[in-house]
Amino acid sequence: MTDPRSAIPSVDRLLLDERFVALVRDHGRDRVVQATRGAVDDVREALATGEGPDAADDPALYARAVRARLEEADEPSLVPVINGTGVVLHTNLGRAPLAGEAVRAMVAAASGYTNLEYDLEQGRRGSRYDHCVSLLKELTGAEDALVVNNAAGALMLALNTLARDAGVAVSRGELVEIGGGFRIPEILERSGARLVEVGSTNRTRLADYEAVLEPESVQAVLKVHRSNFRISGFTEEATVEALAPAAHARGLPVIYDLGSGLLADPADLGLPPEPRPTEALIHGADVVVFSGDKLLGGPQAGVVLGRRELVARLRRNPMCRALRVDKTTLAALEATLRLYRRPEQALAGIPVLRMLAADAEALGERARRLAARLMEEGVPCDVMQVSGAVGGGTYPGVELPSWAIVPELPGSADRVAELLRLGTPSIVGRIIDDRLAIDVRTVLEGEEEDAVARRVVELRTQAAGR
Ligand SMILES: *Cc1c(COP(=O)(O)O)cnc(C)c1O
Repeated sequence: MTDPRSAIPSVDRLLLDERFVALVRDHGRDRVVQATRGAVDDVREALATGEGPDAADDPALYARAVRARLEEADEPSLVPVINGTGVVLHTNLGRAPLAGEAVRAMVAAASGYTNLEYDLEQGRRGSRYDHCVSLLKELTGAEDALVVNNAAGALMLALNTLARDAGVAVSRGELVEIGGGFRIPEILERSGARLVEVGSTNRTRLADYEAVLEPESVQAVLKVHRSNFRISGFTEEATVEALAPAAHARGLPVIYDLGSGLLADPADLGLPPEPRPTEALIHGADVVVFSGDKLLGGPQAGVVLGRRELVARLRRNPMCRALRVDKTTLAALEATLRLYRRPEQALAGIPVLRMLAADAEALGERARRLAARLMEEGVPCDVMQVSGAVGGGTYPGVELPSWAIVPELPGSADRVAELLRLGTPSIVGRIIDDRLAIDVRTVLEGEEEDAVARRVVELRTQAAGR
């Protein structure tokens, strides 16, 4: 018996087939040759294990496989996702969706040239680090500001500038991991600073800091906001307010890693108090760093606020160049910050704030409306009281009471979740009690809500048609 693999046509012969000629015209010769080799290999492997196709010599078989390969490779890797998880700052889903103003500013900056590093008044070279500075100063009362790529980078830059080859005092209760492998002791070490541990995990007093604050051995004090977990019970912590005078008396700066960068009033969001940049500065922090895409609701960025001479030193550090932000980020951040000039404008215009401020009653109303719409279109649909989270490593333990729709779709909850994830647009929900739930808090009203309804109806119809 002959080896069935001998029936496989050569790549050269396949390329002469008219279907392949058409593929080459649409996708280019190199890509088609590569995809054809892959398709031929697949068939050869399948035949070797006895699972091969009957007509291994049929060019149509390969043409179909090649087309599928090319189309799959044409799908973009980064695609929009509708967040039905109820976690507002979902790190895996890209944290903050941006305000319309920020998106428009990004598109305008991306589409052409900008004055990124050009002083229009003087007609000569300017600095990219001038943008957003006056707005940040106006909104927070800081003496100076600097924007870099992200908060982890901002912290690295601050430590490297102010405490390279020197000790930095940090409470043992603040040697935290923020997520994504970002651990304070490691960042500190990589910045070139030396960790000087203070106090204990649950209790660190001012006197513990004072015991190590010798300018010969320690060059800075680092305070880290425990943004993603809480400790309770027998605890004590030296506040920045208490710590700053002690550090300043010895000529040492206090660096405060705030994490979230909440600029809005937490009471307006129905959330408990959270340290904010303005208060951190008033309480005596000399350098404050925080994220642009957490509670601030802007693009990924690291914001540094602080004393003029210290921020100037950070700006002059060559490491700053390695952490620089691009023009679209600056455009989005500026547009987002501008909204904060009027608190009501920020609450209405910044999606993160709007989602956080949405109250359970209004969300219940939205879920019921969406469920009614689905039922009208033939999909039985429940609503369910659920509990979401702020996310992004902020407000640990705070639950956001919300409502979800629970459409009745054939198949297991896992299967339904998969179909929704892999569709267009992709929808990520949560499985609760073996049913797929979509929390309406994080689904943007309008286009996204319409898309959820359309996809759910589609899935139901497809299943009925089978
Ligand atoms: C999130 C967080 C960071 C990192 O911020 P990125 O902008 O993601 O780099 C640093 N410190 C704290 C306390 C945080 O919560």
